[in-house]
Amino acid sequence: MSDDDPDEAAAATTPYLPLFLRATGRKAAVVGGGLVAARRVETLARAGALVSVYAPRLDEEEFALLRERFAFAHVEREPTRADLAGCLVCYVATGDPAADERLHAALADAGVPISVADRPDLSDFISPSILDRAPLVVAVSTGGASPLLGRMLRARLETLIPAAYGRLAAFVGRTRALVNARLHSPTARRRFWERALDGPIAELVLARNELAAEAALAAALDRAAERGERPPLGEVYLVGAGPGDADLLTFRALRLMQKADVVLYDRLVDPSIVDLARREAERIYVGKRRADHALPQEEISDLLVRLAREGKRVLRLKGGDPFIFGRGGEEIERLAEHGIPFQVCPGVTAASACAAYAGIPLTHRDHAQACVFVTGHGRDGPLDLDWETLLRPNQTVAVYMGLDRLEELTQAFVAHGADPALPAAIIDNGARVNQRVVVGSLADIAAKARAAKLRGPTIVIVGTVVSLRDKLNWYAPERAAQRSGKPPPEGAQ
Ligand code: SAH
Repeated sequence: MSDDDPDEAAAATTPYLPLFLRATGRKAAVVGGGLVAARRVETLARAGALVSVYAPRLDEEEFALLRERFAFAHVEREPTRADLAGCLVCYVATGDPAADERLHAALADAGVPISVADRPDLSDFISPSILDRAPLVVAVSTGGASPLLGRMLRARLETLIPAAYGRLAAFVGRTRALVNARLHSPTARRRFWERALDGPIAELVLARNELAAEAALAAALDRAAERGERPPLGEVYLVGAGPGDADLLTFRALRLMQKADVVLYDRLVDPSIVDLARREAERIYVGKRRADHALPQEEISDLLVRLAREGKRVLRLKGGDPFIFGRGGEEIERLAEHGIPFQVCPGVTAASACAAYAGIPLTHRDHAQACVFVTGHGRDGPLDLDWETLLRPNQTVAVYMGLDRLEELTQAFVAHGADPALPAAIIDNGARVNQRVVVGSLADIAAKARAAKLRGPTIVIVGTVVSLRDKLNWYAPERAAQRSGKPPPEGAQ
């Protein structure tokens, strides 16, 4: 399962601590006199550092302009460990790899973080790609893996973040003390700023009408202070998180996730998705593995009501779509009874995600004009399904929660008159990097699934559309895994 795949967890960490260091008035050293060194001098000088450049000569073209804009010292020799005393950082970029390496060896134990150009292996820190909308700064790092990719991403952000956002950040910086003095609870402040930054006040700043923005802010602040610290009534967002790959979230889901104060999630929601919720949001795991429900459904509904009554914005994240075998309906019925406002955000349901990623269209003019979603998770006792409906011709059946009783399910299909040769596929961890697909017929799919040791979650697709996979299979995470040196999962095809 991707939830506990140690390889994935390792890939998601980075040895770098992201932070912004205050450099104003601090000593800093740059070793080298070429283009890269000049860029480093500029970055440091812009942050107000007292820069010394160590190099026999400075490239005239690169440094002439810098000299006009910033003050820095030029020392015509290599630095010693003593020179670095009290420095915030030291950049080594002489343009000569052998010299860089030698300098690094000589200076490494001076107690100052060193960065060697193009040598992340020798560097205590690396320099991110910067999007500068001072005081707003976005730093992008790929952990040294691909500075080019970092720069490409930075360029994309450039188009997303209007240049005027720097002004907006400065405006908030200026008026923040005023707001803090009037609104005392952190929640009231956050709500105030959310409204201000998402509405007319921000628009005024972006349109360079800062006087009007200040007046509008003062008026809004009067209104907010008048309302007092009464917590507003909370709200519940019932959001479908899709089949597990964060790429398949909707924009609206992401927006609601960014607004939440509390997140309630269960096992089917991949941790990488829960991570996208607002960083400060409290996270509550409400479990749900078939037999060991961590919190009974009733209690989840009660918890939603209680949290919303406390004035919180509660995000209830559900795997797939909340209204398809997700009991989302039951949870919000309770909210409706208590008059709690809620919104529902659809998600990509497992059958549709699995079908797309397995190359099996659920409907197709030559094969199926209808598709039925059914659950194979009968309460104890025999499977209680409407066989007449399921066995209709020209139809696809997608079975949720069918793995545990697959044998019984396929035998029942045949016992009720289905052709044992009817194609069937089982998709395990659909649309995720560890997706596996096993194809067969009603007669043998259960045995093949057992041999492949599938663990779920799985969707079973029954119908002649399965035969289209031969032509339409496009998603091959197994091959990608092979390239990265991992053995292909057993039984996958
Ligand atoms: N609301 C969800 C379904 C919840 S029931 C939705 O719309 O998808 C849980 C079942 O969904 C699992 O037992 C399995 O049958 C299916 N499922 C969820 N995610 C899946 C995935 N990534 N791959 C295959 N099946 C999945």
